[in-house]
Parts: sequence; C-alpha cells; structure tokens
Amino acid sequence: MLVVQKYGGSSVADPERIHRVAGRIAAVQEEGHDIVVVVSAMGDTTDELISLVNKITDTPSDREMDMLLSTGEQVSIALLAMAIKERGSPVISLTGSQAGIITDDVHTKARILNIDTRRLGEELAQGNIVVVAGFQGIEKVGNDTTTLGRGGSDTTAVALAVALQADLCEIYTDVDGVYTTDPRIVPEARKLNAISYEEMLELANLGAGVLHPRAVEMAMNYKMPLHVRSSFNTNSGTLVKEVENMEKALYVTGVVCDHDVAKIGLFNVIDKPGIAFRIFKALAEEKINVDMIIQSAMRDGRNDISFTCSQGDLKKALAVVDGLQAVIGADGYTHSDGVAKVSIVGAGMISNPGVAAQMFESLYGEGINLEMISTSEIRISCVIRDKDAENAVKALHKEFNLA
Ligand code: ASP
Ligand code: MG
Repeated sequence: MLVVQKYGGSSVADPERIHRVAGRIAAVQEEGHDIVVVVSAMGDTTDELISLVNKITDTPSDREMDMLLSTGEQVSIALLAMAIKERGSPVISLTGSQAGIITDDVHTKARILNIDTRRLGEELAQGNIVVVAGFQGIEKVGNDTTTLGRGGSDTTAVALAVALQADLCEIYTDVDGVYTTDPRIVPEARKLNAISYEEMLELANLGAGVLHPRAVEMAMNYKMPLHVRSSFNTNSGTLVKEVENMEKALYVTGVVCDHDVAKIGLFNVIDKPGIAFRIFKALAEEKINVDMIIQSAMRDGRNDISFTCSQGDLKKALAVVDGLQAVIGADGYTHSDGVAKVSIVGAGMISNPGVAAQMFESLYGEGINLEMISTSEIRISCVIRDKDAENAVKALHKEFNLA
C-alpha cells in the first residue's frame, strides 16, 4: 500500500511533536507500506516570516516572498527527516522542486501544473520514507521557487496522492476531524464519520478551517478519498469521499459561521443595463472577492444593490464604490463590518423542501434579523448582526438535531 500523510504546522510545532510524528510515520513503514509525508512549516513560522517582511518593506516582490516563505517548510522537512533517521528508518527529505512539483509562474499563488514523479518513485523504490515540503513548487520559465498560497500544503498532499495513485491520503491536524459545528461554540457538536466532497467543499469555502478548499476540489475531481484526523491521538477522524446519503436522516450536515464579513449597500442606483457590470467589474479589477450580492426590486427606475466582501477588502471596496457613485447614479452608500454570515450545509437539502423555512423560523425564534440571504443547492447562508452569531449557531445546531 502507498500512503500519503500530511502534517499541519501545529503537528510539527516543536521538537517533541516532530519526534512523535516521526514515530507515527516510521510505524507505517514498519507495517510494510510505502509512505510519502507532506509537512507544513512549524507552528506559526509562516506568519512570523511575513511579519519580518513588514519590518523591511511594504512592497515586497512576489518572487522574494516565495523565496522567503518556502524556507519555513524546508526547516520542517529537514528536522522531520532527522527525527525519522534517529529511529533507524531510511528517509530522505525533498523540496517541492526536488519532488517534481511543477507550477505556473504566478508567484505567491501558483497552481500545480503537473508532478514529475520520477524522483519520488526512485526514492520509494530504494525503501526510503519521503518527506516533501508542502506549499511549494517550481516554475519552469525561470526555474524559480513558487508557493501555492496560504494553507497550500493540503493541496500539495492531495496532488501527490493523486499523482502517485496513493491508496490512502491522511490529513493530520490538531482536531479530531470535521465537526457538525465549532465545538468551542457548541460543546455538543459531533464529529462526522463521513462527509461528501460537495459538503466539505462548501464548509471549506465557508472557512471551516480543517481543509483548504483547493485541496478538497482536487480530491473531488480525482475521487481521492481523504481521512482528516488528529496527530495527537489515534482516533479515526472524518472520511471525505463520495457519499451516497450516508446519514439519511440528516438533511443538514453542519452549521458554520464566518465573522470575516463586511457589507456594503448602494442606494437608488439607476436601473438600466450595464450598471451591475460596472460595479462588479471595478471591484474585480481591484481583486476584491465579492461574496453575496443582492439587488432589490425596482421602484421608480431605481434599485438598491448590496454586497459582501471580507473585512480586509472593505477599505478598497469603499474606495471603488465612492469612485463609481456618479457613474452609476447612486444617492449614497453605507457599510457595516458588524455582520457575520451563518450557513447551514447539507446534501440532503436538495430533496427536503422547507429547510430554508425551518432555518428562518429558528432564527426568528431567537429574534434575529436576516439582512441578506443566499443559497446554493446544498447551502443556505444568512448575513446577520455579528453579536447574534453565537446564538444563531447554537439555535441552528439544535434545530437540525446535529448533536
Ligand atoms: N505554511 C503555509 C501556511 O502557513 C502552508 C500551510 O501551512 O499549508 O500558509
Ligand atoms: Mg499553516
């Protein structure tokens, strides 16, 4: 069997943890399996490197950012390989480039183009445990190091599992798996034994944290099952895979809350073709990721248009909107960063009418006002006041019997 394991930053945060993880890895090999391990930078190393940059310049080049940030993972692969060697197991560490991870040349958010698995194959054939630096690759135009964007090690692991046709891809983190909601808010939250790719992708996009959305997307496209589990115990975690309604009674699988939301409203915008295009093109040009968009029913040839973005983008978005006011004929605009987005996710929603009504009734029962609503086939999201967010999560978790 060929196993790919990925250990996140918290799992290799200090020497003791590195030794513990080394033991786990060596045990897999002792059972007779081939193993490739992907690691992230130790603890908060990547954040610390970024804060160093902030002391040097406000405008670092993307190439140099990659040069710097890729060092975090190089530290952890070398130390982990040494720890494995200490136990007497054959091992080699490889950078992204040495592991054949070829990306495009978009520095700081590169995409993997393909993986040349020759070296990996050779090392495995020689009986080595192979430890690969996550989050990095090489672009073939200038032969420079690239990184895949924050949280990119998950993507490295899934890509390697797919390229090597691994039998198992385990993602080790500091929690036991994927929960029905954040156990810090709802202590009765339950670990899910299995979840579908689609649901996991919605949760990951909503910021559920345990897995990076790009990694889930890749796993889904290549039907690579993922086992999300803790590196601090041997409990089985959550299997992310193609699920045929595993938990039939459950039409809602999870509740998520995203606090990183800001809302902008434009008043009395002229109602004519091309207005929405102008607004959202201008926002896109500033690389502002817009999430929900609502346009009110027209009255007197005018509309209200509201949208949400991340809090980090609020200032930029306001500048865009301000510059557009005259062109789009808006009377004015408002904004609020005191909002949050609560969402329910579940593949069973498609075949169960009334889920939206049930969600809204539950929030109404808590006296919570819904400022915006959006849906996908398997998700319903509401923008509410941030101060109501915890109550909303608790109420919805209970309403949909997730405990
Ligand atoms: N070390 C990188 C980060 O913190 C990549 C990763 O952890 O997946 O974003
Ligand atoms: Mg990390």
